[in-house]
Amino acid sequence: LKELHSPVLSQAILGKVITLAEAFQTKYGRKPVFMEVCGSHTMALARTGLKKRLQEYVHLVSGPGCPVCVTDQKSIDSMIALADGENRIICTFGDMIRVPGSRKTLMDAKTEGKDVRVVYSPTDAIGIAMRHPDREVVFLGIGFETTIPILAIVLKEAQDKKLTNFSMWVTTKLIEPILRHLLDGGEVKVDGFLLPGHVSMVLGAESYRYLTEEYGISGVISGFEPVQMASGIYRLLELSFKEESAIINDLASIVGNKGNAVAQSYMETYFVKCDEEWRGIGRIANSGLAIREEYRHLDAKAKFAVPATEVRVTKCRCGEVIRGLISPPECRLFGVACTPVQPVGPCMVSTEGTCAAYYAYTMED
Ligand code: SF4
Repeated sequence: LKELHSPVLSQAILGKVITLAEAFQTKYGRKPVFMEVCGSHTMALARTGLKKRLQEYVHLVSGPGCPVCVTDQKSIDSMIALADGENRIICTFGDMIRVPGSRKTLMDAKTEGKDVRVVYSPTDAIGIAMRHPDREVVFLGIGFETTIPILAIVLKEAQDKKLTNFSMWVTTKLIEPILRHLLDGGEVKVDGFLLPGHVSMVLGAESYRYLTEEYGISGVISGFEPVQMASGIYRLLELSFKEESAIINDLASIVGNKGNAVAQSYMETYFVKCDEEWRGIGRIANSGLAIREEYRHLDAKAKFAVPATEVRVTKCRCGEVIRGLISPPECRLFGVACTPVQPVGPCMVSTEGTCAAYYAYTMED
């Protein structure tokens, strides 16, 4: 682990990145453009200073892989509506409580006296349901493939414990459909993807073959430590410079070719593909997972009727930020009306959000 943080090693790799990026610029007359798909990479690149160090040489754009940032307004509105009901307890991850719905946040609902609780793990919501058998406990389940197997385990636990007062409002997202959506739309032009180690651990390196086979675009699976990220960027540069496309697993100690079969089987047992709404992007076919019919009794969407709300159009440009079309300072609200203390959009709320990362680590510029 020490090696992965080694400044000597990082500097050596960054030196190679800079030399090759300069050669790339000479050859192609532009900077190479890579998208870090995942919010964890966005934050780690900003926090470690890699993004800033490389900004002259490599254009690193943020992608759609922050689960909080892509959760749609309607899911927040639905949770707020559920919180209004009799005898309800709403459980959610910490970041989600501050994400704006069309009118307010779950934090506002809590301030108004609704029972909204932040849990550190979804299994905590099970404990709450067991301690309050006379109340309905609803957990807001968000996340990509890293988190979905955990949600499945929670459903299993609720099933095993025969809980009748627990359900989950699921709004999960899948990596492949969103990457295809970005590439098919044609507005996102990148030379390669820095792919997230944790999602890849579940899916496996082979799951990205469509990137090279159908789009001719490279991807490098990378960890989140400075040396790993610098190495991942260097490998992407090498491929782009040689005009080759490949999927490189730069995290082979953790990520296998086929992924984690147990996690995949949990996902398949409890969930089925569904269309999902992505904040700032819209509805994408088969881009999420819904609870299977057999587990309907654990599905808050089936258990409760909630009024439909209209999406409120705001000046927040998160949709463009998470597609790598603009950087946060290009949003007029950034750092003025929208700050981590008073966030207007989810990209400023989330600890993995691009706007929050820019605010925390580049504002002195
Ligand atoms: Fe949205 Fe705030 Fe980011 Fe602007 S700065 S895109 S309002 S989260």
